[in-house]
Amino acid sequence: MRALVVREFGGPLILEDVPVPRPKSDEVLLRVKACAVDQFDLTIRDGKFAMANKVPIILGHEIAGVVEAVGADVRSVSVGDRVTSTLYLTCGKCRYCLTGRETICTDFKGYVGIHTPGAYAEYTTIPEANLVRLPETISFADASVIANAIGTPYHALTRRARLQPGERIIVTGAGGGVGVHALQLARMMGAFVMAVDIGDEKLALARDLGADLVSDSSAGDFSAAARAWTNGEGADVVLELVGTKTFDASLKSLARGGRMVIVGSHTGTTLTTSPQAMIANEWEILGSRNVTKRELVEVVNLVAAGRIKPIVTGVYGLEEAEAVHQRLRKQEIIGRVVLEP
Ligand SMILES: [Zn+2]
Repeated sequence: MRALVVREFGGPLILEDVPVPRPKSDEVLLRVKACAVDQFDLTIRDGKFAMANKVPIILGHEIAGVVEAVGADVRSVSVGDRVTSTLYLTCGKCRYCLTGRETICTDFKGYVGIHTPGAYAEYTTIPEANLVRLPETISFADASVIANAIGTPYHALTRRARLQPGERIIVTGAGGGVGVHALQLARMMGAFVMAVDIGDEKLALARDLGADLVSDSSAGDFSAAARAWTNGEGADVVLELVGTKTFDASLKSLARGGRMVIVGSHTGTTLTTSPQAMIANEWEILGSRNVTKRELVEVVNLVAAGRIKPIVTGVYGLEEAEAVHQRLRKQEIIGRVVLEP
């Protein structure tokens, strides 16, 4: 099969002919129909992710495809089923796995697309436990963005931020792959949304998707605009998809009693705040990690019903992946782009 292989960290994606992987007894062989491209792919190939310490790696964890063959112990899916997959390889036995919080599994086994061969290839193998079936009405390209780019903000807004109707939320990085879906979800949940990003094109899309206010963070601190928008009160929730770079302005934008949910951290490794400010304001600063399988089923249902629209702005072949990565590196990608191997 054709696959893009990372043979050295910091090196190129090499298009090779490699053997089709064989599924273990608890895995399926999947014919990959679409694989969305994620900023995380860059972190992995650059050798900047500690758990990815061994090459070769076939990237690709935002997957949609058709079950081609099943291992001997697989029961819940059959050959021909259309499926997508969660990203994490979890133990299925720890207290968090057993109580529906498997993204914080204590016996974490790794990642699809690092510790199993990913979907920058014509075929891949995935554990049965990770799979969620897709209805015919969702295209493979749209389906490939559901688990990560829609599922991640879904978990963050519903379970972590506990966003309520009528609340005001700021989404930083709102024009990126996660952001464009976060602001749709926030609108669907009845909140008012301020979208923060860089560049007219991303902010125009945010406005088209229903943002009540947009702000270009390259112009500096957006907290004054946030305060003006909320009659001086600040936002009830900030969804922080950028990290260190926007954290100070996000915190200055947060209302008393506000919740900040941190999902993205690609711009730095430290966040600084004062304990006195946290006490005085009763701020909640929360981490949010990916999406559970149960939530992924909910998100698939929302997409199938047309309540959330996957934003796919380009579809490319494997030979174009390197160019796509270069554009992603320069922050030029709006929404999500997808490879069709
Ligand atoms: Zn576990």
